This record gives sequence, structure tokens and C-alpha cells, in this order.
Amino acid sequence: MANIYCEYCGDRFSSVSSLTASDCRRHPNGTYKGKHKLYEGTEKSKYTCKYCGDQFNSISSLTASDCRRHPNGTYKGKHAPAL
Ligand SMILES: [Zn+2]
Ligand SMILES: [Zn+2]
Repeated sequence: MANIYCEYCGDRFSSVSSLTASDCRRHPNGTYKGKHKLYEGTEKSKYTCKYCGDQFNSISSLTASDCRRHPNGTYKGKHAPAL
């Protein structure tokens, strides 16, 4: 069974139901302001930001820093993983 990751924080879960049951520390509305969101892409060795194209070794490292090409403005939000 494939691993299940949150698109916002990169945490790994054993099931979708456990992922969507708890709040996410990197939710776009604010820390713990919403649930984890299922990352619907496949597991990869490198993850690419869909806004700027930077590559990271994990979703959690990708979503840890702000993106210079974020749609809300330069560094106005985190990188987001492409599928
Ligand atoms: Zn999360
Ligand atoms: Zn980016």
C-alpha cells in the first residue's frame, strides 16, 4: 500500500481517514486552522513546486519555506507540490 502524505505539511499517514481527522500545522488559513489535505500525486524521490519549479527531497521540506512565485504574491505563501 502506498504511503499517504499531507499536501500542506508532508506528514505521512496510514490512511486517508486518519489524515483528514486532524488539523494541519501548515494549513494555508493558518497554523491548525484546518485539516490535513491529501496529496494526490505519486510518491517521488524529488518533489517540484508547482509555482516556481524548485525541487526538494520531501514534501515537508518543500512546504517549509515561502515561494517567490506564490499566486498570493512574492513570498506570501509556501511552495506547493506538483502532482
Ligand atoms: Zn498537514
Ligand atoms: Zn515555489
